[in-house]
Amino acid sequence: MAKITAEYIWIDGQKPTAKLRSKTKIIDSVKSLTDIPEWGYDGSSTEQATGHFSDLLLRPVKMMPDPLHRDGDVLVLCEVLNPDGTVHPSNTRAFLREVAERYKEHDCWFGIEQEYTLFEGNRPLGWPASGFPAPQGGYYCGVGADEVFGRDLVEAHADACIRAGIHIVGTNAEVMPAQWEFQVGAVPAPDIADELWLARWLLYRIGEEFGISATLYPKPVKGDWNGAGAHTNFSTKATRAEGGIKVIEEAMKKLAKRHDEHIKVYGAHNEERLTGLHETAPIHEFRYGVSDRGASVRIPMATTNAGRGYFEDRRPAANMDPYQVCAKLIETVCGA
Ligand code: ADP
Ligand code: MN
Ligand code: MN
Ligand code: MN
Repeated sequence: MAKITAEYIWIDGQKPTAKLRSKTKIIDSVKSLTDIPEWGYDGSSTEQATGHFSDLLLRPVKMMPDPLHRDGDVLVLCEVLNPDGTVHPSNTRAFLREVAERYKEHDCWFGIEQEYTLFEGNRPLGWPASGFPAPQGGYYCGVGADEVFGRDLVEAHADACIRAGIHIVGTNAEVMPAQWEFQVGAVPAPDIADELWLARWLLYRIGEEFGISATLYPKPVKGDWNGAGAHTNFSTKATRAEGGIKVIEEAMKKLAKRHDEHIKVYGAHNEERLTGLHETAPIHEFRYGVSDRGASVRIPMATTNAGRGYFEDRRPAANMDPYQVCAKLIETVCGA
């Protein structure tokens, strides 16, 4: 039987922001997820266990074609379990799975806009060796070697996501030079979050080929430069149906009440980004508005005009854990 490589990808226990890890297993070619064996690793090297009893279990939960290797090779996203098969505390996917199941009749969809910043060494890509580029203004959706930096990497990444089967729907250059965005969705949970983590992994991995690293830090350059977010667009069967705008207004009241609880899982260092400037609302305030990019939540013009659709939670930072963010949105909006 032909051999393939299976890249096992999982999320570690690093605090305050977990990191992706992966290692390669060479196995007989596979047809479906059930053909992929469980595996283990040393949790003491990933801040998930102490030295004496450190083996943790990798349970494959999603398989995709590996777009960077040969036909038949696969990427395998895993959940982390304790040796006895119980859920490891760092495994936030398990909780989202339960929440999504509990509220499945609401038919929640998510679309996430992942912003990120490219770095070469310790400088944003394309920035002068000392000093700063010209102030922000012309870079967003720009074109030209003096305006955008890293498009070849961005295109290679989008191409890899498409070939892997990730529901990527667009990319754009962002307001700060060297900052970019891709969008995934609209997809239900937990798939949206699985796909976002896999797309992040591909971004870092493809960056290796270019000698460029991507960071999800929410405020990579201090001062008058935009931060990086992960706007999370959300809808339910009810918000998409006739009269859905009323359901969205009810949702805004619920979100306002639980603002602090949401902010807690919307990404570390988000206070550096949510200042009230640079298209954000201050971190301690909740405000929503139609077409308002300075609000915590924006209701797109198209939703207002149609009287139904989705809303955009602009609070999540680029480095948020989509498992936690999706779980919070479902619980708050669909719960009593
Ligand atoms: P922005 O104008 O905020 O930059 P983008 O075009 O970058 O918007 O992103 C819009 C996002 O909204 C996409 O990820 C898309 O999948 C998502 N989206 C569209 N319709 C819905 C919907 N009904 N429910 C949830 N998400 C949606
Ligand atoms: Mn966008
Ligand atoms: Mn953006
Ligand atoms: Mn947006």
